[in-house]
Amino acid sequence: MTPLPLREELRGLEPYGAPQLDVPVRLNVNENPYPPSPAVVADIERAVAEAARELNRYPDREFVALREALAAYLGHGITPAQVWAANGSNEVMLHLLQAFGGPGRLALSFAPTYSMYPEYARDTHTGWEVGQREEDFTLDPDRAVALVRARRPHVVLLPSPNNPTGTALAPEVVSALCQELDQGLLVVDEAYAEFRRAGTPSALELLPHHPNLVVTRTMSKAFALAGARVGYLAAAPEVCDALRVVRLPYHLSAVTQAVALAALRHADELLGAVDDLRAERDATVDWLRAQGWTVADSDANFALFGTFPDRHAVWQGLLDRGVLVRETGPDGWLRVSIGTGPEMAAFRDALTSVTETTEAAP
Ligand SMILES: *Cc1c(COP(=O)(O)O)cnc(C)c1O
Repeated sequence: MTPLPLREELRGLEPYGAPQLDVPVRLNVNENPYPPSPAVVADIERAVAEAARELNRYPDREFVALREALAAYLGHGITPAQVWAANGSNEVMLHLLQAFGGPGRLALSFAPTYSMYPEYARDTHTGWEVGQREEDFTLDPDRAVALVRARRPHVVLLPSPNNPTGTALAPEVVSALCQELDQGLLVVDEAYAEFRRAGTPSALELLPHHPNLVVTRTMSKAFALAGARVGYLAAAPEVCDALRVVRLPYHLSAVTQAVALAALRHADELLGAVDDLRAERDATVDWLRAQGWTVADSDANFALFGTFPDRHAVWQGLLDRGVLVRETGPDGWLRVSIGTGPEMAAFRDALTSVTETTEAAP
């Protein structure tokens, strides 16, 4: 068979994604372990049934009601014209690179960083480069600004709290990068913002000062709505107008809009579980440290811990005991998502058992 006329740089590539394995305790993709309550499910059912009656029509292309609800949820004086949404913040990020990246342009991040970013760069023909975070996974403002000054990227992508380390960005770093990037955008990916510890600010506070700042969020994590695929951002209205040019027509289905609106009506309840998860996160970090492991400070719903001479053996040992974590981050580290109390107890038991039976003691 003659080879398909596939783009050269895509030949031989495997689709990216964490293993979706059917095991009792799944702590590998930072999902919220609490399913929506019966009251939330009932409201979603009603909303979807209503949307179904008009599914012969295309949805509201401008998703006005959803933008209003998301702006109200974000607060900080953000208006609906400053809000954009798509099928997961992954699609929001793709829209950003379609509009602001492209051939001859450069996107930059600082490692360790989110493993999807280089894929959006590749798919939009945008150049891709990574600098390095410090030993403790923070960003040094002077070193970060120096790299931006040297490379002049069009888009800088920074998760805060960072995935896979859990590290939040200091506001001074955000401001310094926005100032240096006068011809580029700084995208602060706040997928885990709702999990940050008390006193850690959101980059939303800096939006009024920086027209080139974009703050992305998602309903996948804190809102326990990963299956609905809803991500969004807040930025200057001009940024949203640019994204309207590159999006597919009617990209947000009427069903998606209805589900997101129904979930937002229950924001207080859905975010209630976030407090439990933050407490469980802090307890997990404390427990790991008490065992002698090194753990990165986390403002997210996961913890990066290590270091293991053979992390794959530990990952496999945990999996053999029914606990799936993520083999990601710098060499020797593993990432565990924060689950329910019983799930974390299973994780602790499994890790204790694995370290007793392998050479992986701290
Ligand atoms: C989980 C995650 C997202 C969210 O992705 P969705 O497409 O909204 O589900 C975005 N950024 C980072 C860094 C993440 O870890």
